[in-house]
Amino acid sequence: MARQFRAAGHEIVATATNADLAVINTCTVTGEAASDSRAAVRRANRLGAGQVVVTGCWATLEPGQAAALPGVRKIVPNQHKDALAADLLELPREFFDLEPLSRTPLPGLHARTRAFIKVQDGCDNACTFCITTVARGASRSRPLDEILADVQSALEGGTKEIVLTGVHLGSWGLDFSTSPEAGPSQPCLPDLISALLTRTSVPRLRLSSLEPWDLDASFFTLWTSSLFPSGTKALEAGSQLCRHLHLPLQSGSARVLKRMARKTDPDSFAALVESARNFIPQVAITTDVIVGFPGETEAEFAETLEFVRAMNFAGGHVFTYSARPGTPAARMRGQVPHEVRKERSALLRGVFAKSARAYQSRFVGQRLPVLWESTDRLTDSGWTLEGLTDNYLRVTAVAPEPRWNVLDDVLLVNLTENGIAGRIQF
Ligand code: SF4
Repeated sequence: MARQFRAAGHEIVATATNADLAVINTCTVTGEAASDSRAAVRRANRLGAGQVVVTGCWATLEPGQAAALPGVRKIVPNQHKDALAADLLELPREFFDLEPLSRTPLPGLHARTRAFIKVQDGCDNACTFCITTVARGASRSRPLDEILADVQSALEGGTKEIVLTGVHLGSWGLDFSTSPEAGPSQPCLPDLISALLTRTSVPRLRLSSLEPWDLDASFFTLWTSSLFPSGTKALEAGSQLCRHLHLPLQSGSARVLKRMARKTDPDSFAALVESARNFIPQVAITTDVIVGFPGETEAEFAETLEFVRAMNFAGGHVFTYSARPGTPAARMRGQVPHEVRKERSALLRGVFAKSARAYQSRFVGQRLPVLWESTDRLTDSGWTLEGLTDNYLRVTAVAPEPRWNVLDDVLLVNLTENGIAGRIQF
């Protein structure tokens, strides 16, 4: 959207204070996300944005509530989001096909160096807690050529890291089977990844969340295939295809997973993790867990705690269950009291914090490339930089000049409160 507004001659500014128009992309994945979205709309209006336009999942499901927020001029439901800029500016949609414009990071204090490229939307699964399928509909993949063009434009804008995203990323290509997009064989996510690695010069390619049932051992050969001529050595030095897999677990109890209608169980999840670790040395495996799902007993929660401990994750997000109206789980009996949900969440967060620490400590003393994402603090000793390794270690270092969006070779020296302190090897 930002690129389209720029293509039409508009400038993207860092805060709503200076904006003639603010577009708020809302979320409703949890009750908290929906409330944050409403706060963002109110904030944009309070800061003085000339007009506020609201889109995304929460606005699609609750258009009346969204329209009633102060200063909101228009609601754009998800199905019209792709044409949001064209419709607001009253331009033909084809206008944006005429002249490709490089994609540059948005301005502001938290400017991201990573370009998040959406390759797929919607989902055909029916996890009982999930409102996303209601808000986003069935799975649709973007054609390969369109994704390649988008990645190319991000690279031309100076992007060093591309993150492939999708509501159900692992299903990319599967809906092409009945369309003219389908070639002799059905395309799937590994084909997309190989094409990006071979047909672009992307320095770093990261995958966002992947459902465990979409993967098998052959998927991990992408990391060890001939794409990396020096094989394992290249992997150890940090690789072009980031050694980071985010595999949502949601629960470590087989019974809870069944009630969630997840297509996995703890044994197959553990086997997948083992296989990933065999193929990709030092891979960071992170996850999401929902705590306090309806009917979750003490014993089932204890299974989750034990399983998460045993998996030695490099990190994880704990979501305290919040009923989303319209989902089967919201109607289930045995809703867990809020106090219990909170207590369990705190316990599990403690387990994740410990295993994340253990993972980080394995890398102290190693040299890894770090892409600096923020360089916004100048102290007496120099600029404080913060960035990520390919295996998702958060690293800080000090340099004589700001090095935003630079990839540096860094010696990881010691653990800090939130990550690892490093020294740039100039
Ligand atoms: S896989 Fe499940 S949780 Fe993920 S988007 Fe689909 S239905 Fe929702």
